[in-house]
Amino acid sequence: MPPPPPDPRPAGRPAPRHHLLNEHTADAYRRAMADGVVRVAARIARTDRPCTGITPAPLAAEIAGIDLDRPLFGAAAALEELEEVYLRDAVYFHHPRYLAHLNCPVAIPALVAEAVLTAVNSSLDTWDQSAGGTLIERRLIGWTAGRAGLGPHADGVFTSGGTQSNLQALLLAREEARDRAGDGALPRLRVLASEAAHFSVRKSARLLGLAADAVVPVATGPDRRMNPAALERALDGCARAGLPVMAVVATAGTTDFGSIDPLAEIAALRDRHGFRLHVDAAYGCGLLVSPTRRHLLAGIEHADSVTVDFHKSFFQPVSSSALLVRDGAVLRHATDRADYLNPARMAERLIPNQVDKSLQTTRRFDALKLWLTLRVMGPDAIGELFDAVVDRAAEVWALLDGDPRFEVVTRSQLSTLVFRCLPAGAGRRVTDAANLHAREALAASGAGVVAGTTVGGRAHLKITLLNPETSLDDVAHVLDLLAGHAERYAREQAPRAAAWANAG
Ligand SMILES: *Cc1c(COP(=O)(O)O)cnc(C)c1O
Repeated sequence: MPPPPPDPRPAGRPAPRHHLLNEHTADAYRRAMADGVVRVAARIARTDRPCTGITPAPLAAEIAGIDLDRPLFGAAAALEELEEVYLRDAVYFHHPRYLAHLNCPVAIPALVAEAVLTAVNSSLDTWDQSAGGTLIERRLIGWTAGRAGLGPHADGVFTSGGTQSNLQALLLAREEARDRAGDGALPRLRVLASEAAHFSVRKSARLLGLAADAVVPVATGPDRRMNPAALERALDGCARAGLPVMAVVATAGTTDFGSIDPLAEIAALRDRHGFRLHVDAAYGCGLLVSPTRRHLLAGIEHADSVTVDFHKSFFQPVSSSALLVRDGAVLRHATDRADYLNPARMAERLIPNQVDKSLQTTRRFDALKLWLTLRVMGPDAIGELFDAVVDRAAEVWALLDGDPRFEVVTRSQLSTLVFRCLPAGAGRRVTDAANLHAREALAASGAGVVAGTTVGGRAHLKITLLNPETSLDDVAHVLDLLAGHAERYAREQAPRAAAWANAG
């Protein structure tokens, strides 16, 4: 192969085409990637807190101050700049005192895969843009559906996340319901989901053109699992009102409480009421590979569709998610044809095209990350990691339950803890404000990050454990800090509250 023509530009300013990865630039690619990796590795190695407590204003000013029309002409300078505008103040999920949302530390094999998949840049819409990529994705869908026990006709597709998976599941359910009940039924279709279900269920219903009150919340018990008797009453109510139930969404791992709806009992109601059962296992899917807790998902095998977020409990980088369906034929509701892309003649020749099953067209080969993770680590290792955080959450629950400074809402089946600080002598208003304050003060200090939520109208705090490196001491330390912030706040407010009371 002849060498590339010389670059006529001044030294240090490569010709634009030298920035594109090809046979001439493979060496430059290797060096640039190594530089980037070295920098991230150094940053990760010296991260001593999960966040810096930076507020939006100073960072916004720095980012706004960068002139995007004047490039730096070098990766080193651009990475240096990136330290200032991103890496220095990023929120680091691998840090053991990051305890907020469903973000996990990521598996190194998946990061290698990420580098591979973006460099090759396959697009998983058609065979002619992916070849082996399409087959690898199909194997992983089959493997995951097998773990869930969805039977011989199962299929599915990787998606951008649980939100998209839930949207597609409900799209399929809507189309199945329309096939049965006709177009006129659209405004009457109902979706039943527990009051602890993910908000993407409501959002999907809106996107799908369902009525504003289409999602009927079903009561949960004190354990925050869907109450099957309440579900039965809701189903009967819909039947009496002539409202076809197009789907029941059961959650296997609610985002706030980690509660798993009674899947088998819910599935048992299907024979009489004839709904599609969608199981949202965005969070709980890690149990599919748990060496000790797979039984918590018992009943998932009855689902018509299942959402799994590998980027939550499989330690995969964002994005990595899938929708699985029991009967692959229902995916036809996501199929359309374009002459240039996926003409019917391809399907007739059995050329595998994933675009026929997906809401997306051009689509990342995210499946490769799970593939390399399974090939390097194996499923049991992933399950052990998830088990470790579930075990840790049980220890933290005991800690909170035995400590009068806190009140904990429920014992999670997975790895969340919803609780609040109870500052001594504080009334309702001050307690709520003290909890909101404690969360913000903790984040501002950078010493830890927890989330917040509302239970029964009262402000609560939430810990989600997904990092097996988080020790009980880490959590105990963060809890002490939170209690301290809440106490101090309540003490400062007490004179004011008393003054208010006197004035009132
Ligand atoms: C996180 C979550 C979702 C949404 O998934 P994304 O990947 O964030 O889009 C849906 N359902 C549940 C139960 C979740 O926890």
